[in-house]
Amino acid sequence: TRILLTGGSGFIAAHVLETLLQRGHSVVTTVRTAQKGKHILDAHPQHSRNGTLNFVVVDDIARLTAFDDAVVSDPPFEAVVHTASPYHFKSQDNKKELLEPAINGTVGLLEAVFKKAPTVKRVVITSSSAAVLDQSQPTKVYNEDDWCPVTEEQALVGPANGYRASKTFAERGAWKFVEEKKPNFSLAVCNPPLVLGPVLHYLDSISNLNTSNQRIWAIMSGAAKKSVPPTGNHLFVDVRDLALGHALAVEKPEAGGKRFFMVGGKFSNKEIAEIVADSFPELKDKVPTSEDALKPGDYPAGGSYGFDNSRSKEVLGVQYRSLKETIVDAVKSLQPFEEK
Ligand code: NDP
Repeated sequence: TRILLTGGSGFIAAHVLETLLQRGHSVVTTVRTAQKGKHILDAHPQHSRNGTLNFVVVDDIARLTAFDDAVVSDPPFEAVVHTASPYHFKSQDNKKELLEPAINGTVGLLEAVFKKAPTVKRVVITSSSAAVLDQSQPTKVYNEDDWCPVTEEQALVGPANGYRASKTFAERGAWKFVEEKKPNFSLAVCNPPLVLGPVLHYLDSISNLNTSNQRIWAIMSGAAKKSVPPTGNHLFVDVRDLALGHALAVEKPEAGGKRFFMVGGKFSNKEIAEIVADSFPELKDKVPTSEDALKPGDYPAGGSYGFDNSRSKEVLGVQYRSLKETIVDAVKSLQPFEEK
């Protein structure tokens, strides 16, 4: 299948790209600069040479017409995978930095496909558990029927609300678009919680590490003795399982019209610290222990978010890796940055 993948320079997208190429698809990916595109081609010399991998520059996804040219290709696209969206908690202006790129990026892309790429049969969107979980009910068991209740007013207050709202409103916008316009394509949406695992994308410096893996680096590098990101929602998925989920959501007709709550399991910062200390004796001194003044974080006493991932197993056929495999492979991929 010929596929347009947005945001190819990202942590998750690099794994989605790898999985799609391995499964014999032909991919054009969007990036913000030609330099980022070149790094992707360099990572896949064979596919760049034989024409099954290419890139196109789309610099500002907050513009509603940003994807108008990118969706047109020869031979034409049959599917689109949309991963590009800001994921960080540094925002000072939620509207500009989070909401506009997420919402306009998603709806603008669907509009472009609708207008200019009638051969596309499936659009897969990387949404988030942020569009599913309700922070006021932290012990409920969640599935695809659940939606984050964040309001337009809350969306403007603080980076965490801004991110949550950006994912919720973008996903709602996508379902509404499909319902109203009845396009040629069907939609499938992946809703992952915290995505952890090995880094495959081009990373010039550890200071640019993607948001979700930062806690692993903090724990393995000694930084967590001073500060570590809060454990958050206590749910994770391995990036390789999520990438396979995206590929299967492209390939399986029965995935159309469905959300997939793609959760591998529960985790706490304390468990990550234990896995790192047990599996990498050479890092043990750097890893915080429960005796440290700043504890890496255990589960809350009242219980944590429950999950039902059965739809992703039954419809897509995804099997989930364990936290241990995820963390061990993530640490291995980050060890080259230790002395830098
Ligand atoms: P990354 O930051 O590694 O990737 C984000 C991608 O989106 C990059 O390609 C980035 O481009 C692109 N992007 C961000 N903002 C813009 C913008 N304003 N204009 C154009 N492109 C932009 O994060 P992830 O790989 O983790 O995230 C990918 C997707 O997965 C996002 O939709 C995110 O919301 C979702 N997600 C991630 C989770 C996680 O734990 N990692 C959990 C749940 C959902 P560039 O490289 O040029 O910055």
